[in-house]
Amino acid sequence: MRRITGEIRAKLIEAAGVSAYFDDEESLLSHSYDATPMLQAMPEAVIYAQSTNQVSAVLKICHQYEIPVYTRGAASNLCGGTVPVHGGVVLVTTRMNRLLEIDEENLTATFETGLTTKALHQAVEAKGLFYPPDPGSMLVSTLGGNIAQCAGGLRGLKYGTTKDYVIGLTAVLPNGEVIHTGGKLMKDVAGYDLTKLLVGSEGTLAVITEATVKLLPKPQATSVMLAYFDDMYAAARTVSKIIAARIIPSTLEFMDHGTILVVEDYAKIGLPTDMKAILLIGQDGHPAVVEEDMEKMRAICMEEAREIKVAKDMREAEELMTARRSALSALARLKPTTILEDATVPRSQIATMVEKIAEIGAKYNVRICTFGHAGDGNLHPTCMTDARDQDEIERVEEAFEEIFAAALELGGTITGEHGVGIVKAPFLEWKVGPAGIEVMKGIKRAFDPKNILNPGKMFAGQTRKRVVINR
Ligand SMILES: Cc1cc2nc3c(=O)[nH]c(=O)nc-3n(C[C@H](O)[C@H](O)[C@H](O)COP(=O)(O)OP(=O)(O)OC[C@H]3O[C@@H](n4cnc5c(N)ncnc54)[C@H](O)[C@@H]3O)c2cc1C
Repeated sequence: MRRITGEIRAKLIEAAGVSAYFDDEESLLSHSYDATPMLQAMPEAVIYAQSTNQVSAVLKICHQYEIPVYTRGAASNLCGGTVPVHGGVVLVTTRMNRLLEIDEENLTATFETGLTTKALHQAVEAKGLFYPPDPGSMLVSTLGGNIAQCAGGLRGLKYGTTKDYVIGLTAVLPNGEVIHTGGKLMKDVAGYDLTKLLVGSEGTLAVITEATVKLLPKPQATSVMLAYFDDMYAAARTVSKIIAARIIPSTLEFMDHGTILVVEDYAKIGLPTDMKAILLIGQDGHPAVVEEDMEKMRAICMEEAREIKVAKDMREAEELMTARRSALSALARLKPTTILEDATVPRSQIATMVEKIAEIGAKYNVRICTFGHAGDGNLHPTCMTDARDQDEIERVEEAFEEIFAAALELGGTITGEHGVGIVKAPFLEWKVGPAGIEVMKGIKRAFDPKNILNPGKMFAGQTRKRVVINR
């Protein structure tokens, strides 16, 4: 990889505009890390992109001189996705944040990818429409980041994830060429599906500058309840029974005992702290269907739950959802370093996986709490630790390695929604096999033969250790 010389710097400033180019110490430092703990590397320049043409001009220069480019939205990813491990340029998208169109005839929205997820939700909901993907980070996360990570969220079970909504993209290839994929089309089989290929590509194939997503009518009614269990297996059996009863709830979330304690201490909403597991169950849609489904689910829960609490109104429902969304923030208060992971198993294996996580935590003497999207098997084992404690961090690393292996043994995956980035790179081959890795590398070469987009990610070396800095 080349460095940014004076000549390249001048060209980049000309392409980006002087108000968009930063290489002072503070700017470099503040773009050297993202939400992932214990990863940091300094870039040489930070550029705030303002248009597709400008991104194209910047990439042409970086391509010519083989300068690495790390695309960054809100940097809320948890896999080291935006850490500039080979220096070069951090290309920030947050100034490209215009909502370009809500098309009520085609039920689509088109926007620049620096727009936040929450801003899109608010704009479409004001028109009685609905964009389901709702990552816990949606207040800050950009839609470009969601698309590049294929973000999920609390509504994934019923509505799917980001990949199920993106139908068209404008993207800049590493050589600066601009491509348009898909469009406002519900059907399109013209060639390979480049739209789907770019969704989840983690900034390694192209810079996505605009996107079109499909929208749904906004559900007329929403209802939420909590079911408290003395026994985690009872909670897991309840999840299976709900699905077996042919009900697909809009939300089916799980918190283990450790998480309940901490969330209650944080949110003070009256969660019973002696419970082994809580399910947060929601339904939305036509009021009559919501009522019927909630009643059926309440009856199923009653078979094994100690108690059930149904939200009285929308305000209380929102309070319960917010409490679940605050699980990470609540846990993060306990210790200086919080490592949130993302092992996913078939939902029939949730109880076994939660049990295994608890056993592994005990074996390595590290504190791991688990919460997550029970309905789709996506668990977030979260470790509260301290990056300065070398001995503990090594045990944490080993514990997580064992957790990923356990997930795979149960037919699961190493990441359900947070992506590979740096953190999971050493484990990717465990999931896709050597032939899978070769195909993926071939795709990368086809898009980015000079490997300038997000180098060091997805296929990073063999080491299984995180980089610990600032001890
Ligand atoms: C508190 C919290 C809760 C979370 N909850 C969830 C959740 O419920 N579900 C879930 O799936 N994830 C969740 N996440 C992680 C999630 O991936 C991100 O929050 C979100 O999708 C990333 O958006 P971002 O704008 O911050 O992207 P960034 O972190 O800036 O970037 C993420 C990746 O996308 C690439 N990228 C960003 N923008 C572009 C672009 N325009 N073109 C090409 N590549 C690009 C980057 O290079 C990087 O590889 C959570 C994270 C936090 C901190």
